[in-house]
Amino acid sequence: MPVGDLASKTIHELRHMIQAGTVSPPEIVDDLLARIDRLNDSRRIHAYLAVDPERIRRQAADLPASARAGQLYGIPITVKANICVAGEETSCASRILEGFRPPYDATVIERLRRAGAVLIPNANMDEFAFGSSTENSAFGVTRNPRAQDDRVPGGSSGGSAAAVASNMAIAALGSDTGGSIRQPASFCGVLGLKPTYGRVSRYGLVAFASSLDQIGPLAKDAEDAAMLLNVIAGHDERDSTSAPVEVPDYVAALRRPLKDVTIGLPEIPSEGLDQHVRAAVDGAIEVFRTLGVKTVPVELPNIDKAIATYYIIATAEASSNLARYDGVKYGFRAASGGSLTDMYLDTRTQGFGAEAKRRILLGTYVLSQGYYEAYYLKGMKVRTLIKQDFDDAFTACHIVLMPTAPTPAFRLKEKLDDPLQMYLSDIYTISANLAGIPALSVPCGAGPDGLPIGMQLLAAPFQESLLFQAAHAYEQATDWPSRRRNWRSGNAG
Ligand code: GLN
Repeated sequence: MPVGDLASKTIHELRHMIQAGTVSPPEIVDDLLARIDRLNDSRRIHAYLAVDPERIRRQAADLPASARAGQLYGIPITVKANICVAGEETSCASRILEGFRPPYDATVIERLRRAGAVLIPNANMDEFAFGSSTENSAFGVTRNPRAQDDRVPGGSSGGSAAAVASNMAIAALGSDTGGSIRQPASFCGVLGLKPTYGRVSRYGLVAFASSLDQIGPLAKDAEDAAMLLNVIAGHDERDSTSAPVEVPDYVAALRRPLKDVTIGLPEIPSEGLDQHVRAAVDGAIEVFRTLGVKTVPVELPNIDKAIATYYIIATAEASSNLARYDGVKYGFRAASGGSLTDMYLDTRTQGFGAEAKRRILLGTYVLSQGYYEAYYLKGMKVRTLIKQDFDDAFTACHIVLMPTAPTPAFRLKEKLDDPLQMYLSDIYTISANLAGIPALSVPCGAGPDGLPIGMQLLAAPFQESLLFQAAHAYEQATDWPSRRRNWRSGNAG
């Protein structure tokens, strides 16, 4: 089998091969590591901050016989650098956590291990998940596998998305606070799901904004995303915000016919919406219509306030979550000759990057006395209105469809000095986090330069099955598996 052939497969393809005895977990890992060795260089895609081939090989060789029945037996799963894997560096791409090796596994990691997965930790990201391009990583950018010379992979889960898109990963976990799974999935041409808030345990996910954060899958097709969610979803006593809601079999739901599904099409803010994105999403809507889906217009009157609301709530929560990095308990401590306060000051000054400092300042400001009511409290009220908009929309339709991002992948450095422009790239993704609803980005085309474009499907809380079902039907109708193969063969080397 040619090198890279196994790495290009999906979870379900590899699972069948393992079950048939035609391939073994160590062979899969070897193939993946060969691919990583070739493409991960910091001058190339740089999807992983660090890779320890020996530890990864050992996991594959030592899989217990008891794991054989697991849904992900022998399947490598890539993990974003803000999800704790016991003994593995979990730096969140921040200097302040450089060298931090958590003594425990996040719940999602425990579940992956139980299902027999082989973990590939340390996918690159924006520092603490602050960003939309992975350029805020303290340890170097990730490049978009579709245009390595000059495009960002999106962010903050840019490493996870680029790894899946370049076959340096079979599938991956990312985290999404305002779009960090979906926007990079859209930029790199893979699927990415932000689950319902509470669907997946956040225990062991390094917190950014605790009322918005969710862990979710990035994958090559809907079936893989469904398989991963099957494993990671469910109530967890260690996360009081995880929901005691039964986990359906997401894979079994995939093949249900779509014909009774209604898709709602909202008026969305169109300033800055690229014409190719609009055309690709319109094309996808046509595909759904040919599948017998009914479309109806829906209103989301408050969606234009989502970004402003998010940057109040998310920074408020981030500033309080980041208070724990003081040089005493975790990671980096500045060599400081002065008092304890000097040590705190030097550690935080040297340990945090510019965007983290910007968020701490903004968040501290909106929470401070005299401003709390004007900003934070008002933000919470608008958040409720946005949630109500979706509640209303879902009385008229099952799924809301809109673009994932206003443009395809932008250029490296294009928005780095203009935070407001960077923040605007999340205009369509943020409201799902504020409303707590599930949202899935699905590749639906490419611009004239071949850069991928994603559509976003949103549903009512805990209706992830519907999203997978729609994505799967779309894939089948558009011959996605073979398109994916052809499309991919030309890229990334
Ligand atoms: N890009 C958004 C931000 O910078 C969202 C990031 C995320 O979802 N983690 O906050």
